[in-house]
Amino acid sequence: GGPAPRRPIRPLPDTLVSQIAAGEVVERPASVVKELLENALDAGASRIELRIEEGGMRRISVSDDGGGIPAGELALALTRHATSKIGSLEELERVGTLGFRGEALASIASVARVRITSRTADAPHASVRDSAASEAVPAAGTTGTTVEVFDLYSATPARRKFLKTPGTEAAHCIEALRRVALAHPGVAFSAWVDGRRVEDFGAGAWQERALGGLGEDYARAHRAIDTGPPTLGVSGLLGLPTVSRARADRQFFYVNGRFVRDRVLMHAVRQAYADVLHGDRHAAYVLFLRIDPALVDVNVHPAKIEVRFRDSQAVHRAVFHAVRDALRASAAEHPSLAPG
Ligand code: ADP
Ligand code: MG
Repeated sequence: GGPAPRRPIRPLPDTLVSQIAAGEVVERPASVVKELLENALDAGASRIELRIEEGGMRRISVSDDGGGIPAGELALALTRHATSKIGSLEELERVGTLGFRGEALASIASVARVRITSRTADAPHASVRDSAASEAVPAAGTTGTTVEVFDLYSATPARRKFLKTPGTEAAHCIEALRRVALAHPGVAFSAWVDGRRVEDFGAGAWQERALGGLGEDYARAHRAIDTGPPTLGVSGLLGLPTVSRARADRQFFYVNGRFVRDRVLMHAVRQAYADVLHGDRHAAYVLFLRIDPALVDVNVHPAKIEVRFRDSQAVHRAVFHAVRDALRASAAEHPSLAPG
């Protein structure tokens, strides 16, 4: 018995550090999809294509027509804590890009093979860099970037065991695309699963894109809202309570364009619907909170799905009133549609 003999403190090998970090960032194929889509948006893409094979376990590919990566920086793109997006604490505090940690691609490359093909507008040709190769080589390609991720978790079978069937993982990947697409209506998105096109969002108006998120049931049963000052406002589409869902699977909330699952926000909406939605039914909504970036901390979690508000009561109030007032106005206009 007794404790094991103490071992000396030693720095962890770099690959192990990345694999540990990858546990937080790369939980499943859909997390890879989210990171790659966010990178494409940060690069200013106007068209993004996602391809998934075998639930993303065999291959995930995201192509964009954004600004590209110079050939000389391809190795850095795969290096941990290397980013083109911030360079100081001041820049972190007013970060406007979706990424800023500079660890997603490095984390992914620690649990998969990654190949980046990219070309900037002024480059004579594209270059391709494979995480398994030692240098970038010339390739064919137009301006923009394609990131391919092969054989996810093949080197970490313990993690692979936690994955569900390819069909389920693919569904999560498409859900990740939908979440990103709803907040970026000016960008065209399409997705293929095992060669079959499953999603095709043309660039257009936000209402149209948001309605796609609510689903056809809500084509006539929704209300658009847009209230509050630029520093704390709420806009979006509310599904009217005449249509409700058994599952809470059509609830999309964004803070300054970033998809979040936040208790304060979800509670505020649930409370606003409480009068008009019965028992175990769920509302559908696509809501965008805009808030002074200084009043919200997005640097809480590596996957950045959580946020922290400086004044969460004020945020709760703003969301609650915006939603409740809109639902009341709608019920007053269409009394015959009121439930119960
Ligand atoms: P972060 O997004 O936090 O900077 P990543 O590991 O996701 O970290 O990406 C590292 C860097 O690689 C980015 O800062 C960016 O310069 C570059 N990069 C990644 N994906 C793309 C892309 N699709 N287009 C252009 N540059 C990209
Ligand atoms: Mg990123």
